[in-house]
Amino acid sequence: MVETMKIAVKRVNTSRITEVDFTNIPFGKIYTDHMFMADYRNGEWNNFRIIPYGYMPISPATPALHYGQSIFEGMKAYRGPDGEALVFRPQDNWKRMNISAERICMPEIPEELFMESLATLIDLDRAWIPDTKGASLYIRPFMFSADEYIGIKPSESFTFMIILSPVGAYYSTPVKVRIETHYTRAAQGGTGYAKAGGNYGGAIYPAKLAQNKGYHQLLWTDAKTHEYIEESGTMNVMFVIDNVLVTPALSDSILAGITRDSVLQMARKWGMKTEERKVSVKEIIEGIESGKVTEVFGAGTAATIAPIELIGYNGKDYYLTPVEKREFSNKVLAELEGIKRGLKPDPFGWVVKM
Ligand SMILES: *Cc1c(COP(=O)(O)O)cnc(C)c1O
Repeated sequence: MVETMKIAVKRVNTSRITEVDFTNIPFGKIYTDHMFMADYRNGEWNNFRIIPYGYMPISPATPALHYGQSIFEGMKAYRGPDGEALVFRPQDNWKRMNISAERICMPEIPEELFMESLATLIDLDRAWIPDTKGASLYIRPFMFSADEYIGIKPSESFTFMIILSPVGAYYSTPVKVRIETHYTRAAQGGTGYAKAGGNYGGAIYPAKLAQNKGYHQLLWTDAKTHEYIEESGTMNVMFVIDNVLVTPALSDSILAGITRDSVLQMARKWGMKTEERKVSVKEIIEGIESGKVTEVFGAGTAATIAPIELIGYNGKDYYLTPVEKREFSNKVLAELEGIKRGLKPDPFGWVVKM
């Protein structure tokens, strides 16, 4: 469909890069000089272009603004030892974006469109990949419906875009989470397995209530019984129980994280037993009290591995093993970060050089 993909490039006259203090980059506020755009019209993707990053006119009747027909992805590029961009498992983000697209009634994005636009944009804004320690270039592909029509129906026109944002080192300070037993992020039959805009808008209020009580994030439970742990909103959750790596099995209310999958693959390679199954709140709370649950962590692109320091449940805080004593989380974090940054061998072939 896009076999003869030609990307029209309009460069900025003057780069804004000199205005950026790369030693102190706030998350998600700084964008590179350029952005990629493509239009879906009459059943085809076309008008591939890279233009200066900036505001764009859209119709006030855009369904994405009214009904949330928008999906996104998130990945990171690191500056490799020879200045190349190292992108972690981008094909998996491409596949997942198409899973999200199907659920929201959006057209498929051909692999070439995703990968070529990404490579071309990164090449143009290569200087923006931070070389400060721990920093990276956050990549945000997204798609929204672009009809001018406020009826509710599958849209006919769409916009696919990629924007890039340098981000500073993520200090994985241990996270305090609260188990949510009232509000719901995603229900069976819903859109939880898609990276769809509305899932996140609806989660802000319950998360804010927990933040007011001193927690960083929620651990969501299943919508029906609130007895089983699901995930943490932008991270999947993983446990070490009796030396077994345990994580909730994927379902239509859990986002299939690429970090989650990477951790499972590495653990299996190291000969560790892994289980993807239902994980009850009861099992975790009792396991913390008895000492069987030795490690709990979030897994996601932003933090890679975010150690969970304590879990709040029914008004009580349950403390976990101090982070420095967590053998598996620390090992997997070091290994994954090493692979992503090109400092360690990549036996799984995860890193794509651009
Ligand atoms: C993006 C996301 C994750 C983590 O996925 P990664 O591919 O590892 O970044 C987990 N849960 C939700 C709800 C997410 O949106």
